[in-house]
Amino acid sequence: MSLLIDKYNRKIEYIRISVTDRCDLKCLYCTPKDSDSHSRRRAILRFEEITRIVRCFADMGVSRVRITGGEPLVRKDMVSLINQLSHINGINDLAMTTNATLLSKYAIDLKNAGLKRVNISLDTLNPETFKMICGCGELNNVLEGIRDAVNAGLTPVNLNTVVMRGLNDNELIDIVHFAIENGANIRFIECMPVRRIVNLSKERFISIKEVKSLVESHFELEPAKSSGGGPASYFRVKGETIKIGFISPVTQHFCESCNRVRLTAEGILRLCLGYKDGIDLRDYIRSGISDESLKEIIMKIMQNKPQGHQFSNDKCIPIEQSMSMIGG
Ligand code: SAM
Repeated sequence: MSLLIDKYNRKIEYIRISVTDRCDLKCLYCTPKDSDSHSRRRAILRFEEITRIVRCFADMGVSRVRITGGEPLVRKDMVSLINQLSHINGINDLAMTTNATLLSKYAIDLKNAGLKRVNISLDTLNPETFKMICGCGELNNVLEGIRDAVNAGLTPVNLNTVVMRGLNDNELIDIVHFAIENGANIRFIECMPVRRIVNLSKERFISIKEVKSLVESHFELEPAKSSGGGPASYFRVKGETIKIGFISPVTQHFCESCNRVRLTAEGILRLCLGYKDGIDLRDYIRSGISDESLKEIIMKIMQNKPQGHQFSNDKCIPIEQSMSMIGG
């Protein structure tokens, strides 16, 4: 088996797949209201096409898959896709990122279909702030979804909080308490610059260093082992079982150990979050290409994976499209 190794000697073992660019929330750092996310409508990949692509990646040593969006649970029949992916040889970590508004309905079926774990966005515990950040939707549905995911055994449940000054930075301690009470890990994330909201992300930006000191002023943290090879640095709250992760894509990027690629809902394989370029796998598979040729193309294109993004330096190059389009 040939492994996917890029020219910087990074082994690619993780693919994040957006199954739709649609979302039932309009988070202001992700899918601004005037978003163009649905204007460029090409047919999205069918489930059997996604499964075929994942099988090719698994043949080249990819073992981890994350389903994301948009909001993956707004696409019909997600349980069936999870079931197909969970049967692919070599895939031993199958996860989903969701806003959890619909998770109560699907948690048990997803678990039974082979989903191992979920990351759930939770930026606030305040219903009014929720409306302000997410534009619509009901916080209660999200909180129920979190509890149902924990009860269904989707372990671990990781809560993701994008921290924004003046919006939710006063809630970090409450959010940690909520995580402890519900047996979920919590990860605080720096807001990344997206072209359409670059001013918002500048004004509201808080570095993860500041976030960590805020948390440390209330909780005693001990270093913890990171699981899953992701970008978070993890700590344990003394005396508790849950972990707190700090993710700093802007101030301390982790590009040198990047092990991932992204597949958009329309089948574009993106090699780096910071660069728009990608390769259209949908066209290849619809033109009748064999698996072997597809793998060769993927192997070759991997050599173009950029060394890293440029979110933090003076010449900050923001992310071209919203995360809901790329697959966050
Ligand atoms: N709808 C799902 C959700 O809300 O979790 C999955 C898609 S969402 C694009 C995936 C993740 O991207 C979320 O955790 C969200 O917080 C994160 N995200 C989106 N825009 C971001 C930004 N500008 N900076 C940091 N994280 C962002």
